[in-house]
Amino acid sequence: MTMRRSLCILLCTFAANPVFSQNNTDAAARLKQTIETLSAPSMQGRGVGTEGLQRSAELIRNAFRSAGLKSGAADGSFFQKFPYTPDKSTGKEISLQNVVGVLQPADSSVRETIVIGAHYDHLGSGPAFSLAKGEQKHALHPGADDNASGVALLLELARHFAASGAGVHKRIVFIAFSGEEEGELGSKYYVAHPFATLADTATMINLDMVGRVRENIIGIAGNKSGDTFDAILDQAATASHLSMMRGGDDYPDDSDHGPFAAAGVPFLYICSGSHDDRHTPGDTADKINAPGMVEVANLMESVIGKLLTSSRPRFVTRLK
Ligand SMILES: [Zn+2]
Repeated sequence: MTMRRSLCILLCTFAANPVFSQNNTDAAARLKQTIETLSAPSMQGRGVGTEGLQRSAELIRNAFRSAGLKSGAADGSFFQKFPYTPDKSTGKEISLQNVVGVLQPADSSVRETIVIGAHYDHLGSGPAFSLAKGEQKHALHPGADDNASGVALLLELARHFAASGAGVHKRIVFIAFSGEEEGELGSKYYVAHPFATLADTATMINLDMVGRVRENIIGIAGNKSGDTFDAILDQAATASHLSMMRGGDDYPDDSDHGPFAAAGVPFLYICSGSHDDRHTPGDTADKINAPGMVEVANLMESVIGKLLTSSRPRFVTRLK
């Protein structure tokens, strides 16, 4: 093969597959590392009441800080604490916390806000909510896809939008939710105690299980909940290697978009699809498709970029 021909093939490959660009290679490595760290045994499956869950919150807080986000909590700590009683029979209360970081708009008079969220808790070592069989119900549930993947993507988006330096057109509130597996506790608490009023919250984006992209398909539900969403997704699709499977009004409520939708906030629920390892010890980091996640990150940067510069979506009531 001549040099010229091999160069052409190389360049054409690069052009056709941006996964090979340096930016994308770096992003894939960061995503993978975050997922490996959050799903490591030392994080104890990020179960409610574990030190691993606390360590995960600190890791996310540190990442928000180094990305350049400001605290979203009243005491400047990035932590929005809320009480929870895991075992009603003992009545013993514990404290859970959302991790909240904010990117303020360049124009400080702008109130319109976009919330981007991903839950960071998981099942610990079961057995509650485990879908594993027999003794496996009591083994460590690493939750790499559910939902270390969503947190990794959340951090990637925080880095991306904070890196512009010039500030964004609208406020972005980044939230790592706790207590999702116990019934969307963190998102319910945030909706009741929002950093920016819900009246100013124009869109919520929920990243839950985004690590197992198959056949270049990404699921996006809630696209009918805001009247501008389908047009924005159509535009973003032209520059993406992913095809979107749009769920419209056909979506489960039991993830963190649910409380926002119930409060009348338009939302997009991003998910690469369920699988047999969900809520089992088999949800491990080695099964994550990092290049696929980079495609999701690039797509979401484009979608959120368009949301930041376009008119506020109007909430559309669910039909089914
Ligand atoms: Zn989840």
